[in-house]
Parts: sequence; structure tokens; C-alpha cells
Amino acid sequence: MPRSIVAGNWKMNTTLDEAATLASEVAEGLAEAGSVELILCPPYISLAVVRRAVNGSGIHVGAQNMHYEASGAFTGEVSAAMLRSLCHYVILGHSERRQLFGETDETVNRKVHAAQDAGLRPIVCVGETLAQREEGGAADVVEGQVLACVADVHDITDVVVAYEPVWAIGTGRAATPEIAEEIMRDLFGDDGDSVPLLYGGSVNVGNAAAFAAQPSINGALVGGASLQADQFLQIAAEVA
Ligand code: 13P
Repeated sequence: MPRSIVAGNWKMNTTLDEAATLASEVAEGLAEAGSVELILCPPYISLAVVRRAVNGSGIHVGAQNMHYEASGAFTGEVSAAMLRSLCHYVILGHSERRQLFGETDETVNRKVHAAQDAGLRPIVCVGETLAQREEGGAADVVEGQVLACVADVHDITDVVVAYEPVWAIGTGRAATPEIAEEIMRDLFGDDGDSVPLLYGGSVNVGNAAAFAAQPSINGALVGGASLQADQFLQIAAEVA
């Protein structure tokens, strides 16, 4: 089994100062998190201060997105090589990027390749919408997303996959642990034990342990609750 992971996706929250403070608070409370691997994913502009704040603690840092090209005329974008000097992880294909910024499985796949080529470990997000679930197609949708996003990847065990049902994100309406387990159980067949699978979507202190107790779930990708150091650390303690 891979080591448990709890990652905090701060989304478009925290100023530079707030990010530094939050990261320091997490680092100071690290002992509470047990053996869990912690990853903090602040906005791009705060990667450097967060990195400094957690330096030497064993906490990892991740970005929330990147471009698949190495460099060039892509105003506003950031490449894998730029990130590699700041962090070790990158979230790719988050549903907010898919829904609001036109991200597709194909662009996510290009990003996964670019990330791995640069030495970044991708956290690939997948998940069905409520309509897709109600039509009974959730498992097929998620499997199709995973296969497309990791197509032709040379080392699948270096990918982290986060199952985040769109209807559970930011809604306070988490999936049940059983729903998440059912979706995640068969995703990787023989590689299932070596690809960390995270659940995301309204994870909180009260439900984190139940998700982590499922045999196929190796941790959590936390949004709102990762913006409070004490809650984030408690979630990590529940997952441990
Ligand atoms: P919430 O935990 O706020 O539902 O967000 C989940 C998420 O999108 C993490 O990437």
C-alpha cells in the first residue's frame, strides 16, 4: 500500500502573507498528522513562501495547474520546468479547470506527460457530474477520464489520482465512503496497490476517517477545510 497522502488545494485563496502564515501553522502542528504525507497547494504566487515556510519539515508543496508547453508565447501560463524549482507536485485536471477553463482529458494528458518529464508528480483529478451519476454512468465516466488522462504514461505508479465527484465539491455534500470505494476499487487493476487514490469533495474532520478506512482509498484532497491549519491537521490525523 502507498503511504497515505493528504493534500490541501487552497484554490484561489490566501494572499502572500496569509499563505506564509497558514503554511507555518501546518508545519508547526505537523506532529499531529502522524505518518501521513502532507502536500500544500497554494496559488502560484505563494509557492515560494510556502516552500520556505515548510522547509525541512517533510511537507511537500504542489501547484494547482500548469501548461503543457515548455516555454514560449503563452501569456499568463506557467511551465513544468518553472514549477520544478518550487514544488514537487502539481494538481492537473481539477473539475473547476475543466468546467470553467476548458480543460479536457487531452490537455490533461499532455500536462501529465510534461509534468513527469520535468520531474513533477501529477495529482490527476477525475469525477462525474451529478447528471452523469443520475444517468447511471459514473463508473464509466471516471474510468474513461483516468484512461485518457494517463494514456501512454511510462510510470503510472508516479501518478496520484484524485476522485472528486463534481457534485461533492464545495457543496458540503460528500460522497459516501461506499460510493467512493465502488468507483475507485477497479480503476487500476494490478497497479491498484501502487497508485495512490485520493478522495476529494467536502472532506472534513468528521468524514475523513471513514473515507480513509476504505481499502482502495489512500488519502484525501481537501479544499475548504485545508484553509484552516487545525482542521487540515485533524483531517490528516483521521486519515493516518
Ligand atoms: P472542498 O473540500 O471544498 O469540497 O473541495 C474539494 C476540492 O475541490 C479539492 O480539490
